[in-house]
Amino acid sequence: MNYSARQQNLRRFLEQKKLDDVVVTHMPNIRYLCGFTGSYGVLLMSHSQPLFFTDGRYIEQARTELRGTRLVVSKTPALAATASWLSAKRLTRRPLAVGFESEHLSVSYLSILREVLPSKTRLRATSGFVEKARMIKEPEEIERIRAAILLGSSLFSQALKWLRPGVAESVVAAQIEYAARRRGAERMSFETIVAAGTRSARPHGVASSQPIPLSGFVVLDFGVILAGYCSDMTRTVHLGPPGRRARRMYEAGLGRYFSHSTGHGVGLEIHEPPRLAKGQRDILRPGMVITIEPGIYIPGKGGVRIEDIVLVTERGAEVLTPTTKELITL
Ligand code: ZN
Ligand code: ZN
Repeated sequence: MNYSARQQNLRRFLEQKKLDDVVVTHMPNIRYLCGFTGSYGVLLMSHSQPLFFTDGRYIEQARTELRGTRLVVSKTPALAATASWLSAKRLTRRPLAVGFESEHLSVSYLSILREVLPSKTRLRATSGFVEKARMIKEPEEIERIRAAILLGSSLFSQALKWLRPGVAESVVAAQIEYAARRRGAERMSFETIVAAGTRSARPHGVASSQPIPLSGFVVLDFGVILAGYCSDMTRTVHLGPPGRRARRMYEAGLGRYFSHSTGHGVGLEIHEPPRLAKGQRDILRPGMVITIEPGIYIPGKGGVRIEDIVLVTERGAEVLTPTTKELITL
């Protein structure tokens, strides 16, 4: 992971926006910029070396993981410590322009910054600047995503054994999740979706206690986090022989029943920019890793969704999900 390039990139952003510092509070962004994988801390990016503020619980972890970043351990909350550090260091100079992540700083945290920083400080809301850099993946990130996808696909093949009429959806989900952990996943990317029968018509049918019926579609949508990176896949299988209508649904072309966006970026987070949907203007660029997940949902009948992860390349796209898209009948 090229942390110095990432930090350099952020300094260019500070210059463009005429900011002295930016307070980064979103943990995946902190991880991206300095390597810290824990769950608490604040990263202060400025024109010189970044500073990472955390508390005593994370000293060891921060010492091991931080790259190109100075560690500050404080007894006060990390955000207050960041603000005090800024006030103490720059008191005699012109008023500071300090950016914060508007999507990731609560109103009460913003009020801490306002209270502690000198009143002349110009606090500026910024949006999505680290996420924008994260859209283009480094080769090592792509390798980690590939590994997570392969684990996901292999779990899907195993899950076909567990999908049986009468078994609760939540039991199938639990088996997938248990196997994922045994095979090295840190956790799931999101709550596992197992939606059988008429529940398959719900785009986000998180596994329920309902038993899987004798026949009909079952949508499986899940992902694992491996070495920090997420996978995400959906396949829809059919229990019992599919009738003509089920086949037609699987082969789709029923655009009026396609109710959600086409896909999303995936990486350190399960949903990250770019977003693929009607009206979006982001241009897809080589190095982006995105999902393509068309689905149709017919209330009272059922639904079908198929989701792959795709790497955008110089010449087009590489589908990273190896699992077949032919209709699987159990
Ligand atoms: Zn998914
Ligand atoms: Zn998805």
